[in-house]
Amino acid sequence: MTLISGPQVAEKVLAECQRDITELKARGVTPGLAVVLVGDDPASRAYVRSKDKKCRDLGLHSVKLELPATTSQAELLEVVAKLNADPAIHGILVQSPPPKHIDEAAIVRAIDPAKDVDGFHPVNVAKLALEDPTGFVPCTPLGCQRLLIEAGIETKGAHAVVIGRSMIVGKPMALLLMAKGPGGDATVTVAHSRTRDLGAITRQADIIIAAIGRPHFLKAEHVKEGAVVIDVGINRVEAPETEKGYKLVGDVAFDEVAPKCRAITPVPGGVGPMTIAMLMANTVKACKQSLP
Ligand code: NDP
Repeated sequence: MTLISGPQVAEKVLAECQRDITELKARGVTPGLAVVLVGDDPASRAYVRSKDKKCRDLGLHSVKLELPATTSQAELLEVVAKLNADPAIHGILVQSPPPKHIDEAAIVRAIDPAKDVDGFHPVNVAKLALEDPTGFVPCTPLGCQRLLIEAGIETKGAHAVVIGRSMIVGKPMALLLMAKGPGGDATVTVAHSRTRDLGAITRQADIIIAAIGRPHFLKAEHVKEGAVVIDVGINRVEAPETEKGYKLVGDVAFDEVAPKCRAITPVPGGVGPMTIAMLMANTVKACKQSLP
């Protein structure tokens, strides 16, 4: 069984970003990412902090805008419009979830698709479906695909089962796997909470992508011998024995599933670090594409 290391592949992606950033700076351009946080959700705040730090480590221009939870829809739209017009900013990300009074879909639609490094704008969703390489693909599924490629997992002709159909992970993951080319050409099945007899489907899978949001959901009985399992899940479960009182676990019951696998990602240490690395890569791509 091979343990696919997220941090190792993320380092490689970041080194590629670093090389591109150096080249761009030599041409007088510094890629810029603006991350907008509305409200004070502690998890979101931690994500925004780590994105900002990673930008700074790489020498990207990083703008972190922390707005109060009382920010109105109109005020937020104004912030987005300013960032759209700012030539020093190539990527814009509004941290999800915003407070309830904000219409998140409208905010996403207001972001210039050329700066939508999260890949959530309808133009970028369409570009993914159209296999247009100028589009931006959501960072987590893009990171999962890169993990498969780097681990030497052949997706061509493989049966890949994606569990989850969210716009952030499951749906774009399925589109990536079925697209033509490296990391694609798979036969894809998408499962979700209404799927009948999930185990009968996952047991046929050469590759399983688990993006469910339920701790230790995927069990050994769901997986055939020699399968490759990518665990996207990040679930907080109580762990009184730890200092924090909780720990993060995946959607896969790792201890029982791993022995059956040809390759598997752990949690933590799997998909997590890839998401932020692909965000940096998307920002560099946005910068390059903005050049004449
Ligand atoms: P969502 O809650 O948006 O989607 C979960 C999906 O799982 C839905 O499609 C849902 O089906 C399906 N599902 C739920 N229960 C079952 C079940 N019993 N059987 C089959 N399918 C089921 O979550 P996300 O896609 O946003 O995230 C999924 C997981 O990935 C979470 O743990 C999240 O924390 C993690 N994540 C990790 C990231 C990272 O950087 N590593 C980034 C983003 C997410 P239905 O559509 O029918 O409701």
